[in-house]
Amino acid sequence: MQLRTALAAGAIVAAAIGTSDAATSSTYRVGAAAVDITPEVAPDAPPVWLAGYGMGRQAEKTHDKIYARAIVVSDGKFGVAIVALDLVGFFYDQVEQIRADVAKLELKPSVDYVLISSTHTHASTDTVGIWGPYVKTGIQPGYLKRVRSACVEAIEKACKGAKPAKLYIAQTHVNEFGNLIGDSRLPKVIDDRLTVIQARSSGRKVIATLVNMPCHPEVLGSRNKQLSSDFPSTEREYIEKRFGGVAIHNSGTVGGLLAPRNPGVDPFTKEPMPKGQVDEMMAFGRIIGRIAEEALTRAEPLTGPISARTENVLLPVWNQIYKTAMGAGMFKRQVYRGDGSPVKVPEPASDSQPAKLPPIKDPCLRTEVALIQIGDLQIAAIPGEIYPELTLGKFQRPQEANADFPGAPLEPTIFPMMTAKYKMLIGLANDEVGYILPKSQWDWFYPYAYGRKERQYGEFNSVGPEVGPLLMAAWAKLIEAK
Ligand SMILES: [Zn+2]
Repeated sequence: MQLRTALAAGAIVAAAIGTSDAATSSTYRVGAAAVDITPEVAPDAPPVWLAGYGMGRQAEKTHDKIYARAIVVSDGKFGVAIVALDLVGFFYDQVEQIRADVAKLELKPSVDYVLISSTHTHASTDTVGIWGPYVKTGIQPGYLKRVRSACVEAIEKACKGAKPAKLYIAQTHVNEFGNLIGDSRLPKVIDDRLTVIQARSSGRKVIATLVNMPCHPEVLGSRNKQLSSDFPSTEREYIEKRFGGVAIHNSGTVGGLLAPRNPGVDPFTKEPMPKGQVDEMMAFGRIIGRIAEEALTRAEPLTGPISARTENVLLPVWNQIYKTAMGAGMFKRQVYRGDGSPVKVPEPASDSQPAKLPPIKDPCLRTEVALIQIGDLQIAAIPGEIYPELTLGKFQRPQEANADFPGAPLEPTIFPMMTAKYKMLIGLANDEVGYILPKSQWDWFYPYAYGRKERQYGEFNSVGPEVGPLLMAAWAKLIEAK
């Protein structure tokens, strides 16, 4: 029953976008899979600490299951796997372990580049380590390993099920449908571009639909006590019912801070939007699903070779809170010195109780920026929560008085430097280094910009003021080498 519905729905959409390119020859091999990573929430199970907002928010029940969802696309010579996790973030060290495990498998098609992104849901279990009860890790014992295995399993399944397929792409602006994404920090700059990529087999059956959108999945809010992927849950459910196949959601630009808004009225049903955590979240997700569906009616084929290039970056940790958390062993990741040498730490007792670090003067994190090209589509893979100013290249000029670094040079930016017809950004890609701000907007010290009495939110959850310049320099190197 499920399969027949899926086939019928797929056929309708393929017809809607035209049949001129629907030849039997296929451009890519594509597979997709979803693997459940829902931790048990029960009185007799270990506590599940929800990540995002304040510490010590314990889950009381599960609203919807969370997943590792993978799509593998190969042009016959080069294959990429893009995995989206319903998590607040997943560190680079974990991603490197997943890549090493994937490399051991003999996959067909071959997977030459693995991208692990997090949706950044604020209703999922802690995988960063700072959301447990006061100064205790919120990571469940064995959970990071489970997520790593799930990523490998999802990629393996996607490869096994891969079929000849065509890719279609469409882009639209979410806020043209209603006030759905807002920016809570000055200056107000909003990136609202939604990208949808759909893979259809030669029989026009939908294999996968990937939706990429610049917004924090946090409709449920800070008082929520239910485990959930937040609005991507009903968005994916809507898409899977409509088209079949596996629906995948990943986040684009989320810094700034780009967050969901209640549009008042559902732009499709014209009914008043529900207010209140769960109903509002579910309605919001269905709206995004419908926006993706609407965009797909204007989808165009995506053709051309696939490639991926990466650049490693060392980020000095300026943030004192991060330094303290790192010293206490709460962040489970390798720490480096300023010269790039790794800091040796004793073997951790377990996944959830990492060892404490010896004191170091200039701790750094190692991360990665990547550029993926699939035909006419360029994808920037950015390891954290980038500000829309850096994505769109819309800086406030002149610089606001009282910002901490007067005359700070403007960074190279993402979309204006891209050369392909389609431009997309995956945020929280392969890492979560926190907010990535333009240095010219950094505003930690009093007096504050915009005549404010209190500092704006952002720097508190950033590694430091050099993160923006360093990551954007790495990005410029990648995009200019094209
Ligand atoms: Zn965030």
